[in-house]
Amino acid sequence: MRRSARIIIHPEAIQHNLNRAKQLAPDSKLQAVIKANAYGHGSTDTAGIVYEITDEYAVSCIPEAVVLRDASIDKPISILQGFQNDGDLRIAEQLKLRLTVHDDNQLMLLDNYSSRSGYRFDLNIKIDSGMHRLGFQPNRAESLYKSLKAHPQVNPESLIMMTHFSSADELHNDCTSKQIDVFNKACENINAPKSIANSAGVLGWQNSHVDWVRPGILLYGSSPFANKTREELGLKAAMTFEAPVISVHDLKKGDSIGYAATWTCPKDMRVALIGCGYADGYPRHVSSGTPVWLNNQETQLLGRVSMDMIVVDAEEYDEHPVRVGDIAELWGNNISTDRVATSGETIAYELLCNAGNIRA
Ligand SMILES: *Cc1c(COP(=O)(O)O)cnc(C)c1O
Repeated sequence: MRRSARIIIHPEAIQHNLNRAKQLAPDSKLQAVIKANAYGHGSTDTAGIVYEITDEYAVSCIPEAVVLRDASIDKPISILQGFQNDGDLRIAEQLKLRLTVHDDNQLMLLDNYSSRSGYRFDLNIKIDSGMHRLGFQPNRAESLYKSLKAHPQVNPESLIMMTHFSSADELHNDCTSKQIDVFNKACENINAPKSIANSAGVLGWQNSHVDWVRPGILLYGSSPFANKTREELGLKAAMTFEAPVISVHDLKKGDSIGYAATWTCPKDMRVALIGCGYADGYPRHVSSGTPVWLNNQETQLLGRVSMDMIVVDAEEYDEHPVRVGDIAELWGNNISTDRVATSGETIAYELLCNAGNIRA
């Protein structure tokens, strides 16, 4: 979609952030998570940006991997949701994708698959250690590992045991330690590499840094923790979302602003309209007071977000009065996505996906 609001991606920030993961988990191999079009940053671009740093990539589903292979990305790619039908297996064979098995339907598909060339799939075996989304029960881990290791369609050297955290973003939540214990116990007698940590695991749970780590959001410079900023974590913003000022005008005390007149000027004041709204992926649910960066200082949103406009306070600008054409940063180096997300009671993941993927 062509609009005046625009997204700028900072490749060096993505590299810095992935190197940060490498520094924190130096003994683990890296699977850069670039699902959902790399959280809105562009999956093929991002794959290229981290190519020299990451060992592998991870995406959610097969169509996402097809895009990467079409762009000649030749490193291993893990499919976190695995496969759902025979056609998926054919594509995975053709493109040499690493698949994840997490339910019995997939085991049946694998049993019934016939490869003309005798191809053997690379597999992650996903164990549900307590999130109760995808994965086999822990008490099945050992027998599944044994049977898949001996399976004629499976590459026995490829198997990785994996699990996923539900609450690692809460550093005082004991769910995470419990999940690690459940998983380690399930894999006690299994001699295969293991993969546990997402970004929160990499940044906050050292005992989850096993053979592999799978960071996603940290690559893009957002903090998975509510009480830790990206700066505290040593991360840099990978995306700047900016838009121009399209009008500046003066309002009177008592004038209300925008749809539903939710905000009223407490005094005579100058406001600026920015050409960006929910059609551009700016979250509609953020409240008045959400930070916006304009002319080298922080200002705030006033009233509701419209489809293609927001109103911000332009009153206290003695040195650089706001003019039409000035560029506002909705998020980026100065305003973190985490602050905007908090204001809209959501998470940076959603903002990045929405704004980044509208552009795509
Ligand atoms: C999305 C995802 C990740 C990455 O999570 P972040 O919180 O973005 O680091 C890791 N593992 C699995 C299975 C995922 O689905």
